[in-house]
Amino acid sequence: MKRNIKTLSFTLFITFILMTLLVFFTTRVIFKTAFNMVQELGDDKTSAISADVENYLETAKSVLWVAADTVDHMVDEGATDEEIIEYITRESKNTERQFDESYTGLYGVLDGTYIDGVGWVPPDDYDFTTRDWYITTCAANGEPIIVSPYVDAQTGNVIISIGKSLTNPKNALALDLTLSEVQEMVEDIQINGYGYGFILNNDGMVIAHPDKTQNGTYYNVYANQKEFFDKIVSTGKGNFTTTIDDKKCTVFVDEILNQWHLVVIIENSDLFRAPKNLMIVSIIVNLLVFALISLFYILSYRVERNASISMELMKQNEIKKDYEAKLLMLEKTAADSANKAKSDFLADMSHEIRTPINAILGMNEMILHETKEKEILDYASNIKSAGNTLLSIINSILDFSKIEDGRMHLVPAEFDITELINGLYNSISERAKKKNLDLIFNIDETIPSRLLGDDVRISQVIMNLLTNAVKYTEKGRVICTFKKIGITDNNLKLLVSVKDTGIGIEQKNIDRLSISFERVDEMKNRHIEGTGLGISIVTKLLAMMKSELKIKSEYGVGSEFYFELPLSVVDSSPIGFFDVSRSASSAGKSVVSKISLSAPDATILVTDDNEMNCKVAESLMKLFKIKPTICTSGKKAIDLMEKNEYDILFLDHMMPEMDGIETLKVLKAKNLLKNSKVIALTANAVVGAKEQYMAVGFDDYLSKPIDLGELEKLLFKYLPKEKIGEADEEVIADEEVIEFSAENNSDDVQENKKTSGDI
Ligand code: ADP
Repeated sequence: MKRNIKTLSFTLFITFILMTLLVFFTTRVIFKTAFNMVQELGDDKTSAISADVENYLETAKSVLWVAADTVDHMVDEGATDEEIIEYITRESKNTERQFDESYTGLYGVLDGTYIDGVGWVPPDDYDFTTRDWYITTCAANGEPIIVSPYVDAQTGNVIISIGKSLTNPKNALALDLTLSEVQEMVEDIQINGYGYGFILNNDGMVIAHPDKTQNGTYYNVYANQKEFFDKIVSTGKGNFTTTIDDKKCTVFVDEILNQWHLVVIIENSDLFRAPKNLMIVSIIVNLLVFALISLFYILSYRVERNASISMELMKQNEIKKDYEAKLLMLEKTAADSANKAKSDFLADMSHEIRTPINAILGMNEMILHETKEKEILDYASNIKSAGNTLLSIINSILDFSKIEDGRMHLVPAEFDITELINGLYNSISERAKKKNLDLIFNIDETIPSRLLGDDVRISQVIMNLLTNAVKYTEKGRVICTFKKIGITDNNLKLLVSVKDTGIGIEQKNIDRLSISFERVDEMKNRHIEGTGLGISIVTKLLAMMKSELKIKSEYGVGSEFYFELPLSVVDSSPIGFFDVSRSASSAGKSVVSKISLSAPDATILVTDDNEMNCKVAESLMKLFKIKPTICTSGKKAIDLMEKNEYDILFLDHMMPEMDGIETLKVLKAKNLLKNSKVIALTANAVVGAKEQYMAVGFDDYLSKPIDLGELEKLLFKYLPKEKIGEADEEVIADEEVIEFSAENNSDDVQENKKTSGDI
């Protein structure tokens, strides 16, 4: 339950009211109970004191009763006065032991004569008939009676007498008691340590009072005293409240032998002191309990509030996180779609650019092959060089957008490391030579010969670094090192380093290198062509291969780009010594522009919706003495295939109405291919395109602009062997021209390949 400050205050208020009611009622009950208890205690105490006094008097009465009966009997028996006096004397002594000093012995009147148990001889003027004790006793007619206090003629003390008349009513026996015992009892009267008591007789005379001066005075002199006395008499036994000296008092009363009244007075404030204290304690305890409850509530409220605040914070955080995540997603989606749009745009643009370049380079190739004039050859070879540079740039952009899009996937396969190194050497050696740079390939002889990895990508990465090294070095050397730095079971760690003595990179610029399109030190590099994509592609490709590009550079001295590549070993036999000269000579054989093949009987169908492309293809084929059939749509190609048989069908991909892939499907469905090979002819030159086309059923792939060497390789591979012959002398003679143009333009053929990354 969530509590706010209002709920808390309300709860505390209700608790307080309930506690107050509880205090009120419990206190009332406690007070009433205590009140009744105190009243009962007062009543009991009063009764007990009255019983004590009564006992005291009863004892005297019974002594007198027995003595009176005995004297009566002795009189009846005719006992002499002496015998009777002797008896009361003896009895007085006995009784004296029982009553101590408060007792003055038995005495009486027998046949008109005063007799005394303690031997007191009355004075001559003593007339018992006038004495109160004798008058009251005789008037009581045989009942024992307490005579009001009076001053004893014998001792001068205030005493009370108890008398009883005998059979002859003129004869009487009595005994005296001093009031000291009763006085003591009265002085001890207190209830719970408070109050006082006194005894009155039926006439209102004070018999015993703690203030002795009050003894013998009358309590019915003043009106208020009279009223008070009447109340005492009318109550008899019990209690009532009254006001004495402006103070509320409770008066406990009891009768003693129907003649005396025991009165105990206690101020209410004293009487109820204990219940009051109890009530105060109860209120304090309840207040404490309330305070504790309040404290508990406040603390739990605080804990709850803190908890709910932190819950609230957590919720807010979650909402914020959710919001941020959504925002991030939106941003990512927006960025992704922007990225995709950008990549699509780049891919489309590249494709669009490649098509006309295809025509330009194709036509240019024809010029290179057909002209003999040196000036025109120069122009054409410059066109070829610039065209290849442009193609290389487009290839980089395509690669980059593919990586960005996440469409770039590694295709690991077994490869020969020597072949890979050869390829790299061949690709870069001409350029290094042209700049008079020493190109050193430092190859560890113990590297296992066959490895598993994506050799196309590995070559692309190293080629990028080599191209940069040559590009940014004016004099000195470029050293390419391959070193096995670790091998466990089937896993190899290959260190590849490309070191140059070039312009170097300032330390502050090194981190910026992996940023796409970022070129550093532009003032110095102004004259060097570049897009700023190379290192970025290298970094991304290496990351895909679980490696990382490291750069050491000293500005003005040189740079080293290196990385460690994990690869699986397929064949662990070492590659041995890497022979640069062998490598270079083998490279010489693969110069593309050399035409060594002639196949005039070959039947070839070229399908491309772009007429210029068709023309280029037709012209290039002419170099091999081939007269291809040309058509400009998939439909036409199907028609032609239905009628004729072709050795090879070069099929463009992007065509209106029916594209190359659809056309291939129909051809396969109609079973029109038989012995024909279908080669995808496309401007789609992004990395991995070949694999894609092969996957959908093409036999091979040729990218536009058509590379003469590639074309020749394909013809050699797919034409029936009986249709392949050697090129005639005229064409071979042209080789020199072509070789010349290739040398002049080091960026040519290799750059045109999809695998060679940089410009
Ligand atoms: P670019 O197309 O400009 O060569 P890269 O991404 O390949 O793009 O290289 C980025 C920048 O790094 C270059 O512009 C150049 O300033 C610097 N750079 C790369 N390689 C070297 C090197 N070997 N020596 C000096 N600077 C280099």
